[in-house]
Amino acid sequence: MKYNSIEQILKNNQAWAAKKVAEDHTYFQELATGQKPPYLYIGCSDSRLALTRFTGTEPGELFVHRNIANQVSLTDINFLAILEYAVVHLEVKHIIVGGHYGCGGIKAALEGKAIGLVDNWVNPIREIYLQKQDEIDALPTQEERWNRLAELNVQMQVKNLYQTSVMRQALQQQQAPEVHGWVVDIRTGLIKDLQVSTKKWQLRSLSLAAF
Ligand SMILES: [Zn+2]
Repeated sequence: MKYNSIEQILKNNQAWAAKKVAEDHTYFQELATGQKPPYLYIGCSDSRLALTRFTGTEPGELFVHRNIANQVSLTDINFLAILEYAVVHLEVKHIIVGGHYGCGGIKAALEGKAIGLVDNWVNPIREIYLQKQDEIDALPTQEERWNRLAELNVQMQVKNLYQTSVMRQALQQQQAPEVHGWVVDIRTGLIKDLQVSTKKWQLRSLSLAAF
């Protein structure tokens, strides 16, 4: 792959800004007035996943949190602050948890090779693997096992989302955004909606509130 130099990236920026202004001279004035994005996207840090390019969305549409292997961690203050800001203040209508096939974080969890701090970070994925080991090990190739774990990881992170105080409060106030679990297939550029059913987690959050 050919990479742009720093100088080229800055030139690209000038060309892009000029093109936007040529198309609509108020584009940046409007962008500067503030944000009201309808989507919170929780995705993997992988450099290939430029979701705005994959989805044709514009600046101002996606509020974003990214980390290795798109984890929804109930102890990650950075993530929780983003979630609360998105749900309570920006009032996003949808939350997308987006994983991807060929994810290095999933691979690290599956193969268990010690590579550093990432090993600690992906430990929850290792737990998912251990829970579903029979199903995953029965798959014929390592790639399929790796990709299935990416799907199960998205499902688990959607479930985790419903365990957060932010989502539970939003559900009780009937202001919870709709949650979607996606996997991006980098081999085709296509997004697969996993159709994760969230009903039981919603009900569980509400019934816990009744205690
Ligand atoms: Zn990844």
